[in-house]
Amino acid sequence: MAIIVQKYGGTSIADAEKIRRAAERVIKTVKSGCQVVVVASARGKQTDELIADARELNPNPPSRELDQLLSTGEIQSVSLFAMALDAMGYDAISFTGGQIRMITDSDYTKARIKSVDAKRIHQELDKGKIVIVAGFQGIDEKENITTLGRGGSDTTAVVLAAALKAEECEIYTDVDGICTTDPRIFENAAKMEQISYDEMLEMASLGAGVIYTRAVECGKNHDVKIHVRSSIEEKEGTIITHEVPQMEGVVVSGATIQRDLAKIGLVGVDNVPGNAAKIFAHLADAKVVVSDIVQTEISAEKANLSFIISISDLAAAKKAVEQVKDDVNCESIFVRDDIAEVSVVGVGMRTHYGVAGKMFGALAEAKVNIDSITTSEIRISCVVDEDQAEKALQAVSTVFELDKPAEQRGKN
Ligand code: ADP
Ligand code: ASP
Ligand code: MG
Repeated sequence: MAIIVQKYGGTSIADAEKIRRAAERVIKTVKSGCQVVVVASARGKQTDELIADARELNPNPPSRELDQLLSTGEIQSVSLFAMALDAMGYDAISFTGGQIRMITDSDYTKARIKSVDAKRIHQELDKGKIVIVAGFQGIDEKENITTLGRGGSDTTAVVLAAALKAEECEIYTDVDGICTTDPRIFENAAKMEQISYDEMLEMASLGAGVIYTRAVECGKNHDVKIHVRSSIEEKEGTIITHEVPQMEGVVVSGATIQRDLAKIGLVGVDNVPGNAAKIFAHLADAKVVVSDIVQTEISAEKANLSFIISISDLAAAKKAVEQVKDDVNCESIFVRDDIAEVSVVGVGMRTHYGVAGKMFGALAEAKVNIDSITTSEIRISCVVDEDQAEKALQAVSTVFELDKPAEQRGKN
């Protein structure tokens, strides 16, 4: 019998009525002859509320204790979901990450899954039960509870779909599918029917929070068919798959916005071999993930260096940079915590010119100042003031006609 994994995000199960609606959808899938494994997130904004509770008592909560606390949000969801199914006459059993041996490393708050025991789930499915698994959590080798990073229930779902050899992994959320850009900011963003894993990976890592990067990565590596769709309406969403036919002439396929970033600059570092290595070794020791590194020689003796980090790593990054400052003879350090990054993405950029000029022109017209620019073969990113970021996203989305399906762009 085919297995379908269905993941329900926080907004899709925010209250009793929504849980009931999700449960009805599960029942419909069971009636169509499939075995169903549900992965549930914490309800509504509960994870944010739990983090706020923690910070009220301790601005820097120990990460082990934070994970222990955050895992409770998903545990509430799965038991309530199972109760709703029971009330509708269906046999369901809920599990925490630990109960299905979702084993992770011990990197609290951003743990990586190492393995999962699919046997227990198969046993319950074969008894005719609907299995409900708590997303976003696992345990390490010593049975400490870990969490997988914000948005991590997507990863739980795709990992389970791979382990169970499921026919499809459905991600139910509060939008119709994956759009060219965030429809909450650019209202007319066009929904895509399909997107390749690679393009989705790029968009997710640049801030398209509709699905978590690691979930896409896992889907790509294990050939999981991922279907992102609406929990509100009964229509097809977006399929993430390997090969998507590339429309001739489509250069920009999507745009993203990434907030919660900070930028650190080191001004006047000695221009000698080994200094960049020293700086980034310190950051790596502090477990800080760094992106958009820019180094520029400003004279024969000196260079400037800057990079972007997640704002949650700012304290650790500042400490690491302060430690190495004198060693590399850095004149001053500057920090910005009020920035966001707006990017355009598209594999078509590899073979087209003029994209950068068009993007910068749109930003100029919208009177958005660009702090810094980084590019790769398939993306262009601009750091802008956080309070101008939405305006910037709307301007680039308009100029690249992201309100239209790919085949209609540039033809009217
Ligand atoms: P869930 O609780 O279902 O996991 P999320 O808030 O994590 O929901 O993800 C859904 C949200 O992702 C949408 O409400 C939308 O604002 C945002 N989003 C960002 N980029 C995109 C995009 N390209 N397409 C669709 N949604 C996007
Ligand atoms: N509840 C977690 C979060 O809010 C995980 C998830 O929703 O995927 O980030
Ligand atoms: Mg999510």
